[in-house]
Amino acid sequence: MNIWTDICVNLTNSRFSKDSDEVIQRAIDAGVSRMVLAGTDLDHSKRAVELCEKYPMHLRCTVGCHPHDAKEMDDEKWQMMESLYASPFVVAVGECGLDFNRNYSEPNQQINVFTTQLELACKHQLPVYLHERDAHNEMVSILHQYKAKLNKMLLHCFTGDEEQLQAYLELDMYIGITGWICDDRRNQSLLDAIELIPNDRLMIETDAPFLMPKTIKAKSNRNEPCYLPEVCRRVAEARNIDHEIIAAITTLNSATFFDWPVDLSAVKKS
Ligand SMILES: [Zn+2]
Repeated sequence: MNIWTDICVNLTNSRFSKDSDEVIQRAIDAGVSRMVLAGTDLDHSKRAVELCEKYPMHLRCTVGCHPHDAKEMDDEKWQMMESLYASPFVVAVGECGLDFNRNYSEPNQQINVFTTQLELACKHQLPVYLHERDAHNEMVSILHQYKAKLNKMLLHCFTGDEEQLQAYLELDMYIGITGWICDDRRNQSLLDAIELIPNDRLMIETDAPFLMPKTIKAKSNRNEPCYLPEVCRRVAEARNIDHEIIAAITTLNSATFFDWPVDLSAVKKS
């Protein structure tokens, strides 16, 4: 059995409120025994930490504020959020970044909330867990200002092209690939770019409950971490490497990035 690591599960999303225990068990049964939960605001971050405490072997989480929720932040929330970084289960600051696609919060609010989290990441020497949509140039220029002081960076759900990828790799970023790669209507630029990601910078993720892989036929369109092997299969196909190797290197990369040790000696050759 392989050991997969899903670096983005939105397990505190309301679509999992009734059956999160079953969702975790199905993932473990499928070999996806390590999951990183994304904290997207104070409330979701707190609940993510609680889930990690319940499943200390299998879960870690990030604590932060998604650009969509930037308008909700105030001094009191920042203080409460910062206190969560003391938890041993919190492995990164985020999900943070810029999303100018929908602008649920004003761009200026997004930039302020993003740079505050970059400061927190520097202060606590935690990795940064990034989200970017339609804001590539702004994101790159802000990150260059912080790069020297930051610990490590991961861009989750990369869906861009070769040029954008190069700019992120120049920042020495880790890159997360979702089930976007399974969608033949919109995956071409990603397929062209994916070979450029160095083996030691690649990670895989479901972003569940979002981005159900189009290649999976299921009754519900709710994505789950147990479907991560399908993302792995498509990434392996695109890079022309055995999927077991992709499983191993992405699990090792996430272990390094999140400082969450893993023992791969239990992985049996099948
Ligand atoms: Zn995101």
